[in-house]
Amino acid sequence: MEIGNRARAVEDWFAANRRRLPWRTRRSAWRSLVSEFMLQQTQVARVVEKFEPFLTRFPDPASLAAADEQEVLAMWQGLGYYRRARNLKRAAEMIVERFGGRTPLEPDELLELPGVGRYTAGAIASIAGRRRVPIVDGNVQRVLARLHEDDADPTSRDAIARAWQRATELVDACDRPDRLNEGMMELGALVCTPGMADCGVCPLATGCGARRSGRQASIPPPKRAAVKIEVHHHSVLVRRNGRLLMEQRGDDGIWAGLWQVPTVESKRKLGPSQVSRRCGVELTEIDRVGSFTHELSHRRIHVHVFRGDAAPGARAPGRTWQTRSGLERLPVSNAVRRILELG
Ligand code: SF4
Repeated sequence: MEIGNRARAVEDWFAANRRRLPWRTRRSAWRSLVSEFMLQQTQVARVVEKFEPFLTRFPDPASLAAADEQEVLAMWQGLGYYRRARNLKRAAEMIVERFGGRTPLEPDELLELPGVGRYTAGAIASIAGRRRVPIVDGNVQRVLARLHEDDADPTSRDAIARAWQRATELVDACDRPDRLNEGMMELGALVCTPGMADCGVCPLATGCGARRSGRQASIPPPKRAAVKIEVHHHSVLVRRNGRLLMEQRGDDGIWAGLWQVPTVESKRKLGPSQVSRRCGVELTEIDRVGSFTHELSHRRIHVHVFRGDAAPGARAPGRTWQTRSGLERLPVSNAVRRILELG
């Protein structure tokens, strides 16, 4: 199939088969930017729930730039990877300062924003601005690899460079960059998926190398399972006069800036007396109340939950005693939400 026909086949397929998603009902550069930040590393179904409430509260860059970061993190709860929320707020601040409050549509300007790489800049510029620029995410790379029967490791530098080159050739030959780019991502999400290639309904079936050779299942080659770091978090629920002691995590690392009960992190599991000594507040009693495992992409966290009684007059510098309603306003991770349920 000639490349222009290939591109148009994807555009037509997308126009007829696209899913109705909130960020597709009304297009703007700002809505596109917010959706792209949310969709990095979070499943579509979860983003669908969170997208409109976030846009209602922050309808433009100025409203997000002016907001308190704690409120932004609270609105982001459930999406995970909170660094994206902080980067989005910083991007909004830069849009206000550098671009007069209007989200740019040129790739070079988008690339100046924190948290925006080549993929995100290309997605916003092509989908919201119809600029003729390519995008490659995991879905697009898989479709292109199968189409060209390229069985290289998709994480290799050469394979990534070839994917961008092929995406560039395709977008150069298309009629509508927005439809082509979103169509390629949609094909990867719905038809040419990691577990299955539904070639019978694929607009690229004619001339697809993997289909011809029957190698759909082995392209791309299966990933080696990532080795996860094992860590132990010992979390202590400490109450006084109906209030719970909470602390804020630092600016770096996982769950940066989120709140938690006093937590001792270690490579090994600790006993109650060790936790009591290291948790930063003087306790008269400590009891184990439960445990669970929390999986992140590169880390397996064994969470051990304790309940402690603060000594009379115990000081807890740098922490705050929170009422139930105060707790509801604090941004916390899903793991901490589970810990609070055990309390
Ligand atoms: S024909 Fe099959 S393997 Fe090729 S791109 Fe389409 S779904 Fe993927």
